[in-house]
Amino acid sequence: MKLHEYQAKDILQRYGVATQPGYVARTVEEAVEAARRLQQEHGYELFVVKAQIHAGGRGKGGGVKLAKGIEEVREKAGAILGMNLVTPQTGPEGQKVRAVLVAGAVDIAKEYYLGITLDRQRSQNVIMASTEGGVEIEEVAARSPEKILKVWVDPTIGLRPFQARQLAFGLGFEGNAFKQAVQFIQALYRAYEETDSSLAEINPLVLTKQGDVVAVDAKINLDDNALFRHPDLAELRDIHEEDPLEVEASKYRLNYVRLTGNVGCMVNGAGLAMATMDLIKLAGGEPANFLDVGGGASPETVEAGFRIILKDPNVKVILVNIFGGIVRCDRVARGIVEAARKVQINVPLIVRLQGTNAEEARAILEQSGLEIETATLFKEVADKVNQALQRVAAA
Ligand code: GDP
Ligand code: MN
Repeated sequence: MKLHEYQAKDILQRYGVATQPGYVARTVEEAVEAARRLQQEHGYELFVVKAQIHAGGRGKGGGVKLAKGIEEVREKAGAILGMNLVTPQTGPEGQKVRAVLVAGAVDIAKEYYLGITLDRQRSQNVIMASTEGGVEIEEVAARSPEKILKVWVDPTIGLRPFQARQLAFGLGFEGNAFKQAVQFIQALYRAYEETDSSLAEINPLVLTKQGDVVAVDAKINLDDNALFRHPDLAELRDIHEEDPLEVEASKYRLNYVRLTGNVGCMVNGAGLAMATMDLIKLAGGEPANFLDVGGGASPETVEAGFRIILKDPNVKVILVNIFGGIVRCDRVARGIVEAARKVQINVPLIVRLQGTNAEEARAILEQSGLEIETATLFKEVADKVNQALQRVAAA
């Protein structure tokens, strides 16, 4: 689960990570009020107004603006709130801005990158740091990987102080800023670990002209599988930022990921779902989604699956591929027939049911009077998907 910058900064502050003070605002008046408070409490005259969307690259898209004085905050917040912000990460359709963070502006002397994530290959968390901050770190990694310092943390020991010093030293910090950087890295690591995050990224980490080390941006991704341990953090979910079809699928506990292809698929088991996506590609199609309906595949989940797949206008063909291991195929077939009667399926439907009672299942589908094509072998499935795509293209 992704968090907004303002939520990430709130969390980080609790762990002692230095960030500039700021308040979230959902209206222009709230933004002005936020700036007044920052002026009164901290004496700020220069502010930064920042669009709160989950995608990064906001600065490039015009979603981050410096504002001199309260009146400029009013003006900039007015322009950013409600705008459709297009950044390199939102895709061309962009994302509507519903909130801004108004923060006291930082006098930037130098920008750095600092990030923590799990290195799956090593089964250890990795802390990455670079003097090439502010720009896209992926670019740095591709162009000059030697400019990214890495430190791996042994999970049985935790982050050792010398490792934090190594990173701060590698970034070239000196004197008091060095001490602040070491403290910053340790606090960020603690926050990452204790919130069960899968990513904590500060880009840019800033050395101010006054010599302080401060997070100017903050990105935290929480591990969904650990959210049950953090009910307070689970509440920070913003469904406006998520794909509406994925939100609906999560209500039915369906494991659905929307993709951009033309063949919708419904499968039980993640492994078979992956294999089915390969099969679709082999047949000349592109998967419109990943959908694992789970071991059970009850009529209710099958119906919900059809509804969600059909809401995607790109879907031209549907492929159901279910293995009857825990669940019997005839039961799934009845579910499919029931669902197909309730949900208007106006695209070719190909069904492969294998396993327990597959024969009965096939008979149920064929006798249903519905236009359902059945297949047994993977090769047969690929051919039928290919033919269906060609028919659709010709129509
Ligand atoms: P992103 O574009 O979504 O990554 O948003 P950031 O929060 O990283 O802001 C983008 C850029 O705006 C930063 O790299 C900074 O150069 C600039 N910026 C953001 N906040 C401040 C600030 O308080 N003072 C100054 N001078 N620049 C800022
Ligand atoms: Mn950034």
